[in-house]
Amino acid sequence: LRNDQLDQWDREAFFHPSTHLAQHARGEAPNRVIQTAKGCHITDRDGNELLDAFAGLYCVNVGYGRPEIAEAIAEQAKELAYYHAYVGHGTEVSITLAKMVLDRAPAGMSKVYFGLGGSDANETNIKLVWYYNNILGRPEKKKIISRWRGYHGSGLMTGSLTGLELFHKKFDLPLANVIHTDAPYYLRRPDAGMSEAAFVDHLVAELEALIEREGADTIAAFIGEPLMGTGGIVPPPEGYWPAIQKVLDKHDILLIADEVVTGFGRLGSMFGSDHYGMRPDLITIAKGLTSAYAPLSGSIVGDKMWKVLEQGTDENGPIGHGWTYSAHPIGAAAGVANLKLIDDLKLVENAGRVGKILNDALRDAVGGHAHVAEVRGEGMIAAVEFQKDVAGRKFFEASEKIGPQISAKLLEQGVIARAMPQGDILGFAPPFCLTEAEVEEIAGKTAEAVAAVLG
Ligand code: PLP
Repeated sequence: LRNDQLDQWDREAFFHPSTHLAQHARGEAPNRVIQTAKGCHITDRDGNELLDAFAGLYCVNVGYGRPEIAEAIAEQAKELAYYHAYVGHGTEVSITLAKMVLDRAPAGMSKVYFGLGGSDANETNIKLVWYYNNILGRPEKKKIISRWRGYHGSGLMTGSLTGLELFHKKFDLPLANVIHTDAPYYLRRPDAGMSEAAFVDHLVAELEALIEREGADTIAAFIGEPLMGTGGIVPPPEGYWPAIQKVLDKHDILLIADEVVTGFGRLGSMFGSDHYGMRPDLITIAKGLTSAYAPLSGSIVGDKMWKVLEQGTDENGPIGHGWTYSAHPIGAAAGVANLKLIDDLKLVENAGRVGKILNDALRDAVGGHAHVAEVRGEGMIAAVEFQKDVAGRKFFEASEKIGPQISAKLLEQGVIARAMPQGDILGFAPPFCLTEAEVEEIAGKTAEAVAAVLG
């Protein structure tokens, strides 16, 4: 196809997700068609090579163009492209992957339910939580606490859990039974003089007050990303998760760790739950499970819930929850090959080691800039947050579009970073195979882009 033909069809036929549709139709938001990719680099149809410092949507963790995964997918497609996993059936590859996931999961996990993407895995989690409480004879224990700025998907329930206004606006969300509490966002603490420990106390008090107001017997679960991703790449303050866990335990509220971004190594640990001392009852996995070579997600179910779910089906018959593509063999083949590659190449260790070098290099490159409020991150994920007046804690107006301007400048220099959807935050989450030379390129070009936009 010629480029102009493709461009025309793109405008005529293709509905892009998460896109300003009117701008796209008017040709104001040019579309880049990606053709090939290798390692940390992607190449478009015009031959421009870009260093992808966001690993797609923080998902191509092992890097692009891995023949081991491509071949595993092809072999599986030739041998058995599909069979379902409903009662009485399974495939070797999906059973193998379940075992591999459990072998790597935090302690106390029993089973893996496979879906397709992070959103449907979180839908599954909420249904499992409700099923569990119904079996226990407490159907009124139903509300789910999520956090402002949390991201858990864009379905009806998961879009409700997502604590970003864009995902609610004009969709009549959030749905009933979803309530939000504050994000553990230390930079945006209510009072500049508040210590990290005092901020954690403040968040705990807020959660306690919410539970008190709503009634613990109406609250089923709390969902959170170990490190908040789309809401701004926000690592939790020291001691946050153990303090939250204590409150949840006290009120018999389940914990869902949404590890769609953090699972399988992004923080330099296999799971973020272990990294931050969480003891989840359910863990959501997606992106890094296959490094996005094929769609696959999962809900890892903890022992406490599993015992009840199992018992419930004795009384009620099969669980009424399944997708045609649950545990799809092609996704499972990608998952098995991906997890083997992560082990063989020690990519979790690399994510921790090179990720620290990336965080340090960004701090050195732009941390001292007058408009940089903070460089923060953990393992192979980092963010730079900009403010109009750092000492005065004043933010830029959204209309000034500082984040998007800086990411556009970076793109001109051949580096993809992500202007996070809220606030003036530039996000980095490269593949785990990032090299030290690539770190230097990212940090150097980021400093140039920041200087070009902010002086
Ligand atoms: N949960 C988290 C933490 C995510 O970051 C995302 C996607 O970015 C999702 C859930 C939703 O996953 P998906 O886009 O695969 O539905």
